[in-house]
Amino acid sequence: MRRVLLIGTGGTIASRSHLGGGLEPQMSCEEMLAFVPCVHDVAVVDTCDLLSIDSTNMQPAHWLAIARRIEDSYDDYDGFVVCHGTDTMSFTSSALSYLVQDSPKPIVLTGAQRPIDLDVTDARTNLTDAIRLAAHERAHDVSIVMGGNVICGTRARKVRTHSYNAFISINHPYLATIQGERVVFYLDDHPVDKSARPRFSHEMNGNVGLLKLTPPVSAEILDVMCKTYDALVIESFGVGGLPSYHNEPLGDILRRHMRSGTLVAMTTQVPLEGSDFSVYEVGRSVPREDALLEARDMTLEACLTKLMWVLGQTRKVPQARELFYEPHNRDTLWT
Ligand code: ASP
Repeated sequence: MRRVLLIGTGGTIASRSHLGGGLEPQMSCEEMLAFVPCVHDVAVVDTCDLLSIDSTNMQPAHWLAIARRIEDSYDDYDGFVVCHGTDTMSFTSSALSYLVQDSPKPIVLTGAQRPIDLDVTDARTNLTDAIRLAAHERAHDVSIVMGGNVICGTRARKVRTHSYNAFISINHPYLATIQGERVVFYLDDHPVDKSARPRFSHEMNGNVGLLKLTPPVSAEILDVMCKTYDALVIESFGVGGLPSYHNEPLGDILRRHMRSGTLVAMTTQVPLEGSDFSVYEVGRSVPREDALLEARDMTLEACLTKLMWVLGQTRKVPQARELFYEPHNRDTLWT
């Protein structure tokens, strides 16, 4: 029988419904497993209670700890399930996609909109589905299972705060769907060598900021953010551009900071179809320095966590640029 390691980190799925006050994670993995006895027909499931937090509190040190736990027991299991709060799950799935690269074994994140101890809940289906996928021979790399959909770890976005179908896949098809006991794969993958080991990374630099452009945007704030962060993601409008109504052009501010080592990644606040800064004059005015990166079809979650991973590996701009543009776990299809 296949062997799966269930790693608990908290979230709604592990919260108890009947306690007074706000929901907070309380349950161990063994307690959650007791609600889904059918999984014992699917796999032998061992458990590890790594964290017990609302995912609002997730930070890069937690991502590193999850990756380390997977690394330490990689040879002992056929797949891994990470139970996680839904609020920042897409950040964690992206971060794990960079920390555990080219994993021939599946690393499946799941959670729930309602605690597992309720009569009416999505938690039991999600946990069962996730274990089913983690035990599946064809599955590999980091993904999210929620609402019967399998979403690539670098492509997920939480778009609903209450409904069970809380996540969508951004700029990429769903990888598979889970229909009862069947996993229906949509993509014809290359066969993966199950005996290969992934590339694990052990460093991240969380000092990456996000500036969302609004009309109007403050040049002072841009300057302060460039000084504060080692890398800055700018979420622009539409396919992308910088406004041109400031006394000191924003492009000049960016150029100054990029020349002293700050990485700047340009992306769009439009969720679907990605950025292309070559289309409009306001886009072409963005300084084309080596430290200027374009997120294109990447999600914001993937872009931010990839920069954190890149900065954990190097502070040299040419190497950082190379690492940023190297695709991992389908994070970009741009050619
Ligand atoms: N606040 C919770 C969390 O992200 C929400 C959830 O799990 O659905 O941990």
